[in-house]
Amino acid sequence: MSTVGFVGLGNMGGPMAANLAAAGHEVKVFDLVPELIAGVEGGLAQASALDAASDVDVFISMLPAGKHVAGLYLDEGVLARLPQGALAIDCSTIDPETARRVAAAATDAGIAMLDAPVSGGTAGAQNGTLTFIVGGDADALARARPLLEAMGANIFHAGANGAGQIAKICNNMLLAIQMAGTAEALSLGVDNGLDPKVLSEIMKQSSGGNWALKVYNPFPGVMDGVPASRGYQGGFLVDLMTKDLALAMTTAEQSRSSVPMGGLAKNLYRVHEQTHGAGRLDFSSIQWLYRPVLVGGE
Ligand code: NAD
Repeated sequence: MSTVGFVGLGNMGGPMAANLAAAGHEVKVFDLVPELIAGVEGGLAQASALDAASDVDVFISMLPAGKHVAGLYLDEGVLARLPQGALAIDCSTIDPETARRVAAAATDAGIAMLDAPVSGGTAGAQNGTLTFIVGGDADALARARPLLEAMGANIFHAGANGAGQIAKICNNMLLAIQMAGTAEALSLGVDNGLDPKVLSEIMKQSSGGNWALKVYNPFPGVMDGVPASRGYQGGFLVDLMTKDLALAMTTAEQSRSSVPMGGLAKNLYRVHEQTHGAGRLDFSSIQWLYRPVLVGGE
């Protein structure tokens, strides 16, 4: 069993840290919000991020964006505080450039570092069924594996440092495109007299079948237990999706890639956020953009 420092105990990090503690690891936890520290079952409360980085084998972070990750490791001095030979794993979704910059500084400080963004949402974090998409060297991943297995069900090695972030960004850009397209097709059908449940069933089994139709239908009332059937509360926030789409645009700019569908999806989500004040709603609420009649409805 390892001694682990865990910083960033929000919607994702809190349950991830609790799963590590439940698996028998000693988990030293810290967040800027004191109530979140107290909320981690089995965690050892720390007074600062530097305390959480002291005398640990592994240090894990789960923060909002790249500026927080660079701030924690470089400015606040976590890299300087970690013991030589420790392993650092950043699970936040951030820009690949910051991931590479922090990993290079870690190497200089004698710390192995992985970027390991996740897919699977808050339910995956709670149930320990996350997918980890890892960038960094294979030896570091081998060391991380027992810990990642305590928090997740799938672990992929995408390549060198930064590659985990790139794979995650590509996935979420496709997810946004797919969700917007699914909402658009459902709305077209309903405008022309179809029952959204019947249309969903047909498309699910046809060539338009996709993840949104199978497990995350955006149309209210079609599927139980999804955000669309509880006023788009919970789930994966529009704010986080627009953040990920902005990362996709920046990444595309750097590689001179053409991403017209991703750009359109980003703008649809931006319009949705601004028109409907939808930042804190689940991203399947993009359905509203096509059916304003649903706003404030189910
Ligand atoms: P969150 O805002 O709920 O949690 C982030 C936490 O980090 C907050 O509690 C905040 O207080 C803390 N924090 C920020 N700076 C800190 C610092 N310097 N020291 C200590 N604590 C600090 O966000 P979340 O939903 O848990 O998401 C975290 C990351 O995971 C994001 O990058 C997000 O894109 C990604 N992600 C989220 C989901 C999801 O469904 N929520 C799914 C996949 C990936």
